[in-house]
Amino acid sequence: MAAKGDMVYAWAKDAEIQKKGECGGAVTALLKHALESKAVDAVIAIKKGKDLYDAVPVVITNPEELIQTAGSLHCGTLLMSTFIQKYLDGAKSMKVGVVVKGCDLMSLIELGKRNEINMNNVLTIGVNCGGSVNPILGRKMIKEKFGVDPDKVTKEEIDKGQFIIEYEGGHKGISIDELEEEGYGRRSNCRRCLYKVPRQADLACGNWGVIGEKAGKATFVEVCSGKGAELLQKAFKSGVIATAP
Ligand code: FAD
Repeated sequence: MAAKGDMVYAWAKDAEIQKKGECGGAVTALLKHALESKAVDAVIAIKKGKDLYDAVPVVITNPEELIQTAGSLHCGTLLMSTFIQKYLDGAKSMKVGVVVKGCDLMSLIELGKRNEINMNNVLTIGVNCGGSVNPILGRKMIKEKFGVDPDKVTKEEIDKGQFIIEYEGGHKGISIDELEEEGYGRRSNCRRCLYKVPRQADLACGNWGVIGEKAGKATFVEVCSGKGAELLQKAFKSGVIATAP
């Protein structure tokens, strides 16, 4: 029985989602379950476009296609709320599930207050966020500071205060502080952001707090609403996610 305030480690049971997901794929598995069980009509998430620096917002109605959206793109700086407001009629006639960073959530809530978005129709899966990197500056930083061709990078992440890249032939991490002192690193608005754990979402998910053998393989989930508790519980009962205290 899940309830508001609960905190668990979670990961996807499906091997493909687990592998492609950033930290075990719980977020993707939860959203897939929401679509399959018709808790939502569509999911709005981000997928990799031309390359790692090209984050594309997508609306997905076929649960089998959700795998395309697994993984975190730290150069994805889009505002998901604007997408719902402009292109989905503010979720006024459909139920949507959406992955939100703190900034996306603040904006969603504000647009909800102005009746631009119907928040009753929005299921929010929050991702904890230490910040994102402007994609153009990201490419420049990788070339100039890391000495790596940005097109050869296969994965980027921010972990333990470092911006880390994996590329053909190796991996390299440089301290975010050092990068930012030299004008690279996270966007300035992310650096001053105080909303790193989006607890106004239905669930807040992240890698912070995952220690031991599950580090990197599970997501820390904080249940923030009754809607979030219901989703987590139903997904667990259906066998799409596994959890641990
Ligand atoms: P997955 O199953 O891989 O699902 C991830 C979801 O995030 C997908 O639906 C994907 O479409 C969506 N997504 C990817 N990029 C973006 C984006 N730019 N904007 C909005 N949605 C996106 N956790 C921490 O604890 N500390 C951090 O500092 C931290 N920083 C993050 C920064 C960014 C920009 C993002 C996107 C995530 C960050 N996270 C952070 C969360 C963490 O990376 C994982 O997303 C989380 O642990 C869930 O893992 P998962 O395997 O369950 O997710």
